[in-house]
Order: sequence, then structure tokens, then C-alpha cells
Amino acid sequence: MTSSYDVAVLGAGPAGLATAAAFVAQGRRVVVLERGDRDVFRVGETLSPEIGPYLQQLGAWETLSGHLDACSPFTVSRSAWGTSELEERPSILHPLGSGWHVDRARFDLAFADWVAERGAAVCFGVGNCVAERAGTGFQVRSRRGVPIAASALIDASGRGAPATDHLQSSTWRAHDRQVAILRRFRPRGAVNPGPGIVLESVTGGFWYSAPLADESVLAVYVTDSDLLTGLGRGKETRFRSALKDAHHTTVRLGGYEPVEPPLVFRSDSGCLVPSAGVGWTAVGDAAMATDPLGGNGVLRALESAAALVRGWGQPSEEDARLRKFSDYLDLRASYYLLETRFVNAPFWARRRPTAPDGAPLSWKEVEVQLRPTASLRWAKDAPPSAEAWLPPGALAALKSGLKGPAPAHRALALVRDAAALVDRRLLIGLEWLLAAGVLVEE
Ligand SMILES: Cc1cc2nc3c(=O)[nH]c(=O)nc-3n(C[C@H](O)[C@H](O)[C@H](O)COP(=O)(O)OP(=O)(O)OC[C@H]3O[C@@H](n4cnc5c(N)ncnc54)[C@H](O)[C@@H]3O)c2cc1C
Repeated sequence: MTSSYDVAVLGAGPAGLATAAAFVAQGRRVVVLERGDRDVFRVGETLSPEIGPYLQQLGAWETLSGHLDACSPFTVSRSAWGTSELEERPSILHPLGSGWHVDRARFDLAFADWVAERGAAVCFGVGNCVAERAGTGFQVRSRRGVPIAASALIDASGRGAPATDHLQSSTWRAHDRQVAILRRFRPRGAVNPGPGIVLESVTGGFWYSAPLADESVLAVYVTDSDLLTGLGRGKETRFRSALKDAHHTTVRLGGYEPVEPPLVFRSDSGCLVPSAGVGWTAVGDAAMATDPLGGNGVLRALESAAALVRGWGQPSEEDARLRKFSDYLDLRASYYLLETRFVNAPFWARRRPTAPDGAPLSWKEVEVQLRPTASLRWAKDAPPSAEAWLPPGALAALKSGLKGPAPAHRALALVRDAAALVDRRLLIGLEWLLAAGVLVEE
């Protein structure tokens, strides 16, 4: 392995691997540095059929479709969302047919081996990489790898963009504090897990379960970090305690036993702002991460890699990204608004933008009334529903920055630095805080 490359890609998830493959195809010398070992567990086991065209475009389809053919087909979703009964949605309705339930570690590994065969240097188990500017390029150091010099840097390190933290030119703006606690289960005897995904909403969040390639079943509880810690001490206690509320998941896991202790992953929606600078760009979840409820993170990672390579060298369009993220939050809210059984529970209140009478609020339909010269002050703690208007980081910034009265434009600057949203949405958020008495005008 040489230590000097055209492009260093940090992270060997689907976004990093697809980007690496596309740059190799252009004749560039590429290294992919992955902190984790080859066989480490990875989340995101259900793949949409829409990934096919992206893999075909890269030239990886022939190799990876063989791998996918050996996995369980994803044919159906059954969900109890807004109702206590499971409703079925067959994937035959999808124009591209069924998807796949994969072992994500194995899928990503097969992808990585293919990328290495194409000519990229792919290094696993190097530990957390740290990139620094060096001359006109970058130097990347890692705990167990040799130092790498590269002209261009791709941050494909996933949610939170940890690999370029220290470049200090951008910040991760989380829109919530969502986490997922998950556990694999294996059959005790001859049991059939039933097909597809089972999704169910509960007071503190939602559960989903999916069969994996090796007859085991993955059960995942998605909630907020503060609500998870409120369930008791330790992951085991928290997982068991949350499962008590999940009727359909418990039924599905009958006849199964846990394979290993529960694992916790962050699953916040968020954006890196900005997502690119001179010589570097973030891709996949590192640029923008969305709720696992969508089940399309791998597809988005491949799309994002294709867009990055197409637009390489062009200035990044940050305003368009903020609009896209604001639109995504609206789409997410439309799903959470469908669940009306737990509206006062913090998890749901934080995701459902509603008025005090429970009617859905849309920031696109109201006029901005707030005067730039209005003098605002933080008056009282925000209710959970305020997080459906502005993210926790923005509320914290207002609380500490508006202890005394300050003009509205100062309040806007505070939330702008803490949220990845278009200004209009931020202004409406401030107005809703005024209406709720969290802010007062003096
Ligand atoms: C609970 C949960 C369930 C999900 N379910 C699905 C699903 O069913 N289907 C779906 O399509 N998506 C799902 N997703 C989303 C999906 O997993 C991600 O969107 C997708 O993996 C993003 O790909 P990526 O390449 O951008 O990032 P990742 O796959 O996260 O890859 C990032 C890589 O970077 C490495 N890394 C991190 N820091 C560093 C560093 N400093 N140096 C070097 N390497 C580093 C990490 O080890 C990792 O391998 C789920 C997500 C969660 C949290």
C-alpha cells in the first residue's frame, strides 16, 4: 500500500464504498479507511429493491446480486401504527418487486471486497481516523494504520460525521436525540418468524423486527435517549422493560432466545452544515441522516454517492440541502401524525407539529408576523411539543442566549447556528414558541 492517494474515503459503509468505486472508475488512486473490523455488526438490514439500479450503474450488480439472492426476500411489511391491529402491505405493490433482508456486515463486506478488486485500497480495523489539512491536501492518521496523504477527502463516516469533527469547519446539527436499542434472537426449536417487517408503535417510541439471513430475528426499539435511560439501569433492563409494551413483537419473538446482549446505536435525524469545504465533502449519513422509520438509508447513501461524484468540483448547494432537510422533516411528521393514540407522550409530542388543540401545524401555510426589532426573552421551559417546531439544540441555545431581552434577529441567529432548517421554518418556530409562552415579547 502506498501512503499517498488522490482521494481518501473515511468509512466503508455503502456511501463510502460507492464513492470509492466511482472515483476508481475515473482512474483516481483511492484509499478507504474503516475504523471497524471486517466482521463487526452493522445496522440497516432491510434493503429496498431500488438499490439495484445504483449498483448496476457502478458495475457492482453482478457480484452483489449473487449475494442478495442468498438472503431472505423482503416481501411484506405488517404494521400496527395508529391502530393496535397489524395491517399488511405487500411489497409486490412496489414496481421493482421485493427487496432483501441481509446480514449488513456481510453485504457491506462483499461490497468492500468488490471495491478492492476494482483497485481501491480498502483498510479495515484502523481505528478512528483523524483528518487534518496538510498543504493543499489532507493528512489522515489512525490508531492502527499508516499515515495517509490525500489530495481530496471524503467523509463517509456515518451519522454525526465523526471523521471530520476536528476539521472544525462544520458542525453536526441533530434534530432530535433518537436512539435505537436492538438485539438479535435465534430460534430455540423449529419456529417460523413469519415474513417481512413487523412495525408497531408504543407509548415511548416504536418497535420493528425483521428476519435475518441466518434464521435469526432482529428486534429494534427506537426511542429518545432520555426516555431509554429512564427505563432503568443497563441495556438489558431497558430492552426488557421496553419490550413489555410491544405486543406484536413479543408474539413474534415467542420461541426465540437472545443471541447476545442488546446494542445501542444513535438514530437521530441531522445534517452536517456545511457538508463540504475546500477539497472535502461528506456523503451518505455523514451529510444527512434520517429516521430508520424510512428504511431507506442504504438507498439514500448510494444516491448521495452518485450525486457527489456527478457534482464533484462544483460548489455545494447548502440552501438546497437545508430545504431538502426541512421537507424531509415534514414528510417524517406526516407519518408521526398518523399515530394519535399517544399524542401526549414525549416521544410523539416531540415529532408531531401541532397546535395546543391538537390540530396539525404546517409552517408552509402561515405568514411570518415576527418583527425583526421585536424584543424577545426566554420565559419558561419548553414543553415536549416545542421540539416538533425547533430541535433541542436550538431550544437550548435560545434558553441560554435569551436570558435577558434581545431582538428577534439575534434569536434567529441563535437558532440558525443550531438547526439545519430554512429561515422561514426557523421564524415560524420562534412564533410558535411565542404563542406557547416559552418566549415573551417585551
Ligand atoms: C436502527 C437503524 C435501523 C436501520 N435500518 C435500515 C434499513 O432497514 N434499511 C436501510 O436501508 N437503512 C437502514 N438504516 C440506515 C442505514 O443503516 C444507513 O443510512 C446507511 O448505513 C448509511 O450508509 P453510510 O455509508 O452513509 O454510513 P454507515 O453505513 O454508517 O457507514 C459509516 C462507516 O464509517 C465508519 N466510521 C465512523 N467513524 C469513522 C472514523 N472516524 N474513521 C473511519 N471510519 C469511521 C463506521 O464504522 C461505518 O462503517 C438504519 C439505521 C438505524 C440506526
